[in-house]
Amino acid sequence: MSRPIVATIDTNALRHNLAVARQAAPHSHLWSVVKANAYGHGIDRVWQSLAGTDGFALLNLEEAILLRERGWKQPILLLEGFFHPDELAILDQYRLTTSVHSNWQIQALAKAKLSAPLDIYLKMNSGMNRLGFQPEQVQQAWSKLRALENVGEMTLMAHFAESERSEGIIEPMKRIERAAEGLDCPRSLANSAATLWHPHTHYDWVRPGIILYGASPSGQWQDIASSGLKPAMTLNSEIIGIQNLKSGDAVGYGARYRAAGEQRIGVVACGYADGYPRHAPTGTPVWVDGVRSELVGAVSMDMITVDLTPCPQAGIGSQVELWGDNVKIDEVASASGTVGYELMCALAPRVTVKVS
Ligand SMILES: *Cc1c(COP(=O)(O)O)cnc(C)c1O
Repeated sequence: MSRPIVATIDTNALRHNLAVARQAAPHSHLWSVVKANAYGHGIDRVWQSLAGTDGFALLNLEEAILLRERGWKQPILLLEGFFHPDELAILDQYRLTTSVHSNWQIQALAKAKLSAPLDIYLKMNSGMNRLGFQPEQVQQAWSKLRALENVGEMTLMAHFAESERSEGIIEPMKRIERAAEGLDCPRSLANSAATLWHPHTHYDWVRPGIILYGASPSGQWQDIASSGLKPAMTLNSEIIGIQNLKSGDAVGYGARYRAAGEQRIGVVACGYADGYPRHAPTGTPVWVDGVRSELVGAVSMDMITVDLTPCPQAGIGSQVELWGDNVKIDEVASASGTVGYELMCALAPRVTVKVS
């Protein structure tokens, strides 16, 4: 038998979450964002469950090629565009839609020898100051691209830095309006938060990512509790050791936790080398043998320790859910000072993954 830690990917949850995203933006086309190996779920494992989408958005050529080789014929969007002019031959071969965020990319498109025009997403800077043209540069970039034989359909694309707050999209929407003035163009603006919470941002194509995997774009599970979204990833393991502590006994590295009285502790085969966050503090929720309990002491590379007081029946071999339906990944993330996105993406290669 191998180590008992297993991540299970629920394909029904993925299908269901895609339907929830569609209902939230019923008049838009939908890019399913599967970058970062489908947020750690495994692009090859999940893409068929999301095949009801209109397109897949990602940023590695390898992932795009994999989808084409598996038979996906509909659109694929490269969210960061191409990184070097040489790659345009591959974009041409695999018929990939590319974001264009910089002038050098326009020049590269002008020079490239393509078999047919490529569809492009002109990326504007909505105020986040990562990728994209400033609003006042958009019209010029648009005209340059529109004049190129190598360019097919064009869409204006922007991304929100704070779409979990309603006020967070006011300024970006003003910048987008300024940029789009006089352009009769399709638009793609909305990430998960905007897809769920800001219908006036939906326009032609929405681009949800995190909600497809059943976690909250705000980092707080309560914010999506009524949305019907279901966690797509469950991380389970087992208790592999028991310790009976006396008052004052310490647990784990740094003796970060000491028992206040007699206490039974379970040792779980799961540590930061599996992707469990090392910063998870004492009190982080854990589901042990059907009961909610909590982590105590420091997270080690290969083990965590949990309080068995609420579940005296638990013993060696008892099931532990680190995150999933009972303990939401957002709860573990927020206790640890991070977001569900990071935990999903950080699932370690050594964890066995099952698909259900
Ligand atoms: C990652 C990403 C998304 C999806 O974001 P979520 O918050 O996961 O919905 C959408 N658009 C762009 C450009 C992205 O990089």
